[in-house]
Parts: sequence; structure tokens; C-alpha cells
Amino acid sequence: MAKQDDWRLLNEVQHLKKAEWNPTDGEELAKHAPHLHRCAFCLEQVQDSPYQRWLVLPDLSCCVCEACYGDFKELFEWKQLDGWDIAWDRG
Ligand SMILES: [Zn+2]
Repeated sequence: MAKQDDWRLLNEVQHLKKAEWNPTDGEELAKHAPHLHRCAFCLEQVQDSPYQRWLVLPDLSCCVCEACYGDFKELFEWKQLDGWDIAWDRG
């Protein structure tokens, strides 16, 4: 009886407990991780903009917006990784 999107959303974010995130921005996501379209929590759309801050998992499987990161980081025991050391620029 999963008729509410909210419940699906809750299921999808459970695996993000204790996740580690790299800081990035919308422009970088649009360029290097175009399969990421929305914040996993609030469904904010990724915009091709260097002024829109995002946090992305190291394996690029998921991203959250800066606002949701701030709201959920304690509940989910998140850790922000240092700097912009993201694999997509390697090689
Ligand atoms: Zn969000």
C-alpha cells in the first residue's frame, strides 16, 4: 500500500545513515554526475550552477542539497569529507 511518495522517500534514505559526503555544487554535478537530478530528501532539482551547493556520496549514487544536509546531518550521523577530492576529475 505504498501510495504515498513520502514513504518511498523514507525507504530510500535509510541507507544514508552514517554516510560520508563530498561537498560540490550544481555545476559539477551537472557535468560529472548527470544521472543525479534531485535531492534525495526534498527533491530539490540539481541546477547547472556553481552557486548551488550540494553534498554527494563518493560513489555518486546519491546527492542532497545543502539545506537538507544541514537539517539531517545530526539525525543521520553524517560526516563531511574534506575538500573537493572527488574521483571524477582523475585520469
Ligand atoms: Zn534537499
